[in-house]
Amino acid sequence: MFDTHLHYNIDPLWTNWQSFLNEAQQQGVHSSIVVGFDLASSEQACAIAKQTDRVYAAVGLHPRDAQVENMHEAIQQVRVLVKSSDKIVAIGECGLDFYHLRAEQRTQSLPFQRELFEQQLDLALEMNLPVSVHSRDAEDVMLQVLSARFHTQTLPQIVLHCVSGSVAYIRSALKMGAYISFAGNVTYKNAENVRELARITPLERVLIETDAPFLSPEPVRGQHPNHPAYIRHTAEFLAKNLYHVSFEEFESATDANATSVFLGRKS
Ligand SMILES: [Zn+2]
Repeated sequence: MFDTHLHYNIDPLWTNWQSFLNEAQQQGVHSSIVVGFDLASSEQACAIAKQTDRVYAAVGLHPRDAQVENMHEAIQQVRVLVKSSDKIVAIGECGLDFYHLRAEQRTQSLPFQRELFEQQLDLALEMNLPVSVHSRDAEDVMLQVLSARFHTQTLPQIVLHCVSGSVAYIRSALKMGAYISFAGNVTYKNAENVRELARITPLERVLIETDAPFLSPEPVRGQHPNHPAYIRHTAEFLAKNLYHVSFEEFESATDANATSVFLGRKS
């Protein structure tokens, strides 16, 4: 399996990432992408990837976690990082996040978030890299940004990580060539809306991820941290309940998708 989004760079995984990685490998995870959310975590992701075969890094500035004071300088630092390593396979995670923001806070942070995201979309285009997109309670603006770029041919390859949102939103994203990545929350009892998104995502566009240490899947939902090895639960659930194919067939489809998005595009 190919875990397309996780955080060995966040504690409690960070202090002991090698043993989590060993455990994941024993469960059949052959490749994974460690994802940054600010400069420090992006550097950590690169450091882990550098030491380890088939572990890759994504570098980027999260709309709410990254404390960005000077945007131009921060983007420049991300650019330098991308150029420093051939193990970087995506920009991200970046995007839009209005979760838990009141209307006026949302209005206030929107221009900043949008600009930060747009700059990273530009960087991805420049570097010929896909983008691991984080979007939470931001569907309308996200769609505006993506479709404006789609129509002007300035949209890099998009991966909607830990997907959520409406069926209409995902249909539009699929039309724009996006890949859709499902995390452990697709297994949750109350996540019928996320399962609905899997039903409309063709097997050729689906990816899997743990987003560990977050979002432990059923049947280990109560556990923290989420282990990268638990991706098997999510993959088995999707294969059996939503794609109605054998585990092996699902695994080989998602492996091929991840390989083509993240490993097939580097210039
Ligand atoms: Zn993440």
